[in-house]
Amino acid sequence: MAQKQQWLEQFDDSPLTLKSDDRMDTVVRIENRSCGIDFKIGGGEFIVMAGPCSVESEEQLLTTAEHVSKNGAQVLRGGAFKPRSSPYAFQGLGLEGLKLLAEARRRTGLAVVTEVLSEEDVELVAEYADILQIGSRNSDNTSLHVAAALTGKPILLKRGMVATVADLLRAANVILEHGNSNILLCERGIRTFETATRNTFDAAAIALLKMISHLPVIADPSHGCGRNLLVPALARVGVAAGADGMIVEVHPAPQRAYSDGDQSLTFDEYANMISELDPWLTARRQSANQISEALA
Ligand code: PEP
Ligand code: MN
Repeated sequence: MAQKQQWLEQFDDSPLTLKSDDRMDTVVRIENRSCGIDFKIGGGEFIVMAGPCSVESEEQLLTTAEHVSKNGAQVLRGGAFKPRSSPYAFQGLGLEGLKLLAEARRRTGLAVVTEVLSEEDVELVAEYADILQIGSRNSDNTSLHVAAALTGKPILLKRGMVATVADLLRAANVILEHGNSNILLCERGIRTFETATRNTFDAAAIALLKMISHLPVIADPSHGCGRNLLVPALARVGVAAGADGMIVEVHPAPQRAYSDGDQSLTFDEYANMISELDPWLTARRQSANQISEALA
């Protein structure tokens, strides 16, 4: 970057998250030796995390895991502890859900990302998850961030629905201060005056984060709009904006999903989205090569 523009100074209170001469692109390694899992997030490739919003049953999870593993995913998502708008709505299967995720991992070789909702569950969730998800509703829960950081596990840190980019980076900075640099920043849409979509997917935030931060960025097109029909387009936007991967909701029967059915893709919709993403990923690789050749 040439001379730093003044507006970028708003991020100076999160210095550990910012690119510097010795830290341009953090690559997060996802490793689980007992399941033969070892791959990297960041550094140019685009990874896919896919699965249901909530773990609901063995059949639901295992069929979804099989399908997404055959169609481009490296990571299985699924909530065992669910943050819900109503305390009377389905709260997740808890430990039983974690065990099902581990079984799905054993069968498919997919890594597992799942949300940890409270500090007291960090140890338990870390026993099962390869990546700990900190959800939008916990985006300013510093004590949870610290507890998650101290496990040393990779953390998918979701932007709060009313959090600024600076807020997200401050949360990441705290995790870095506690010795954990395995952070994936996640843009999942923010609240705006628009009601046609559930949230407003902030593509500029992805481009901005890729410009200023060394941490990998993950796009969440599902929560980003809340509507299954729009998810493939937002996935393409994520690729174009420079995201290092995406997390997307897939369900065998979205109309019967316990949570987030309106934004969940069917198996066919998911497979089509992945294959239609290919030319966009190829174009991105080619333009990156052209840029590096021009700079050489
Ligand atoms: C989820 O991933 O299902 C979820 C609850 O996400 P968010 O925290 O972004 O709402
Ligand atoms: Mn969800």
